[in-house]
Amino acid sequence: MNEFSSSSASGPISPSPTAPVIIPRAAHSISRAAISPNALKVLYRLKDAGFQAFLVGGAVRELLLGITPKYFDVATNALPEEVRRIFRNCRLIGRRFRLAHVHFGTEIIEVATFRAASAPEREEGEDVEVDGDEGPAQGAFDEGEHRAVDQRGRILRDNLYGSVEDDVWRRDFTANALYYNIEDFSIWDFVGGVADVQARRMRLIGAPDGRYREDPVRMLRAVRFAAKLDFSIEPATEEPVRRLAHLLDGVPPARLFDETLKLFLSGCGAKSYRLLRRYGLFEHMFPLSAAAFALPPYAYAEHMLELGLENTDERIAADKPVTPTFLFSVLLWSAVLREMNERQAGPAPDISQLLQACDVVLKAQQARIAIPRRFSVPMRELLMLQPRFNRRSGVKSLGLLHHPRFRAAYDFLVLRAQAGAAEPELAAWWTDIQTVPPEERVKLVQARAPDAPQDAAGAAAAGQRRRRPRRRGRRGGSAPA
Ligand code: ATP
Ligand code: MG
Repeated sequence: MNEFSSSSASGPISPSPTAPVIIPRAAHSISRAAISPNALKVLYRLKDAGFQAFLVGGAVRELLLGITPKYFDVATNALPEEVRRIFRNCRLIGRRFRLAHVHFGTEIIEVATFRAASAPEREEGEDVEVDGDEGPAQGAFDEGEHRAVDQRGRILRDNLYGSVEDDVWRRDFTANALYYNIEDFSIWDFVGGVADVQARRMRLIGAPDGRYREDPVRMLRAVRFAAKLDFSIEPATEEPVRRLAHLLDGVPPARLFDETLKLFLSGCGAKSYRLLRRYGLFEHMFPLSAAAFALPPYAYAEHMLELGLENTDERIAADKPVTPTFLFSVLLWSAVLREMNERQAGPAPDISQLLQACDVVLKAQQARIAIPRRFSVPMRELLMLQPRFNRRSGVKSLGLLHHPRFRAAYDFLVLRAQAGAAEPELAAWWTDIQTVPPEERVKLVQARAPDAPQDAAGAAAAGQRRRRPRRRGRRGGSAPA
């Protein structure tokens, strides 16, 4: 228990207009030397203009943990227009909330005006479950012109500005609700956030059920922060997640896309995935993939996903680039294979059936998570190339090396081999051939015996390996009787 905290070590924190516990500079570890000079500039300028200015959110949490924050967010009682007047290098953005972005070269300091308290904690009718209901319903509980919530209690609009005392209650977790005051370098803690950071636990502010209903994405955020910071999720915060996971079905797909990238491409993807599964959240993000993992022929694809996420985490740790295209390929592969195998009635699927399956799965997936075309189109190409790796004889087979998606498709093949779904020898061949000079390559492919006819996914699905060979020349047609 932290000496500065007024909160108990367990149970929810309830909104109340109490004064913050103020932790003076001498009693905490946050040094200005660890804060971005541009963030300090913004804080000082606001203060000099007579406004309150605090560093907030993830930056304070991370500074307390001794991590160097990537982003610095500022909260102030200056209105967005007032912020814009103070900074020439400032743009106002946001549909849901108005925010000021102060630009310093590539660094952006986000300045948010304090917002009024969180949506009311609804107590009655909370347990009405509305499954599969798409999109926001008409504001059933309209809180006046500034605040609208849908029938599940999800916030649709919130424009109401307030004081720092109001601002704190709309934040999600106590660890995210700390205010570093530029006035005297103290930390204002209304919710026991410092104690929770020190105990390394995520705790929702307010009654968890209602806070998740207001915004189901908070369930994903709980998982993401737990994974990234190696925090536990406090029992009352954890308890409703499994029960309310289905509320993700009503979250706008574009928002889920953003959150999916944060979950899987922030360096802790493998751990995030395990937590998403533990709480039954993944099933509501990638329902087709989750369903396929449960079937023996596609179970290996989950292992492949885990390996893929571990590789991705390693790449991020080594500062190598990662792409959503590859991520979604690994996430959706099981569903594509299943779709392909189940839709074909005849001897073996061909490329056009793989393509069709890909499109069916993508279409269904888009209803949950909006994958932009700039990722879904290359993803389709990457998957389409998989059967081509099986062709290794003849000079033509070398054309694959020059395909713009070769690299990603090859990485995907290696992953399939690691998961036991492609022959290690096949992956090794494509690994080696990249290292030999072009003349040697030609000799190698000419020395090979002609390839056996392959089905579309080749040895893609472990359970589907080597069905009856496809008759040459048939395309896309259904099976002969
Ligand atoms: P990171 O930037 O590392 O993901 P963060 O805590 O800064 O972590 P942001 O998404 O940048 O997360 O949000 C900034 C702050 O805004 C959070 O710390 C939290 O206080 C508040 N916040 C963000 N999203 C929500 C939400 N869905 N509900 C309530 N508060 C939120
Ligand atoms: Mg942030």
